[in-house]
Amino acid sequence: MSVTLSSAHVHTTFCDGKTPASEMARAAYDRGFASLGFTSHAPQTFDPGYCVPPEREGEYISQVRSLQAEYKGRMPIYLGIERDYYSCASPAPYDFIIASVHYFLKPDGHHAPIDATAEKLKAYVDDCCEGSGLDMAKRYFSMLRDYVLSCNPAIIGHFDLLRKNNAVLRLYDEDSAAYRAMALDALRPMRETDALLEVNTGAIARGYLTTPYPAPFLLSAWKEWGGEVIINSDCHNASYLDTGYEDAEALLLSLGYDHAVRLSPDPEKGLWERYAL
Ligand SMILES: [Zn+2]
Ligand SMILES: [Zn+2]
Repeated sequence: MSVTLSSAHVHTTFCDGKTPASEMARAAYDRGFASLGFTSHAPQTFDPGYCVPPEREGEYISQVRSLQAEYKGRMPIYLGIERDYYSCASPAPYDFIIASVHYFLKPDGHHAPIDATAEKLKAYVDDCCEGSGLDMAKRYFSMLRDYVLSCNPAIIGHFDLLRKNNAVLRLYDEDSAAYRAMALDALRPMRETDALLEVNTGAIARGYLTTPYPAPFLLSAWKEWGGEVIINSDCHNASYLDTGYEDAEALLLSLGYDHAVRLSPDPEKGLWERYAL
């Protein structure tokens, strides 16, 4: 097995990443990446430290476009955005969109983060879901399903992001029939779009999980339904550009996948390319 190096999901200092865009591009090139897609968190009207500030969106776009020109013929760079359900940004300027859900909207109009601290998610479950983790999961999956079906993104971001804090909080049993049916019911209609299901290794790099999003039972179902997958690092630090890729590829092979999709190493042939695992 040879690990294919590409990521269509990286963050920089334009949002909550630790590495400037130019350093991220250089690190990917030095590591032999076939292609790279920048996907800062899209502008939103709340939680400003997390996303590209609306007044810097133009600068983000122009800097990635200039890196694209700088690396032309050596390593294709693409301009993407990770667009949250509650983002206010237009998808128009971007080569591709990752659709993700990172927040719940509370009755008081504030947003409760899903993948920030476990305490914040627990407070939302206690205050707004009568303490039921399954009820919270149902809300998350129904938002993600509606979002993906309405915006038809290129990529479905970290489908079961809830696993990060559930590893600490144990709000529900991830092996229960009720949870599995709920997750599968949300995933199934996404096959009606052209979206790629992301195999996201970001939580491995950050030490929260030992396996990628989504859980193997979801990847198995996706394969059965003929869906396509893309391995992404959701990297916030250039040191972790390809962390977890060997495990992700081994997992996909064990589930019967024989190929995945990546950002094309040859932009003239299209945005996406299948490659053998
Ligand atoms: Zn995300
Ligand atoms: Zn991300």
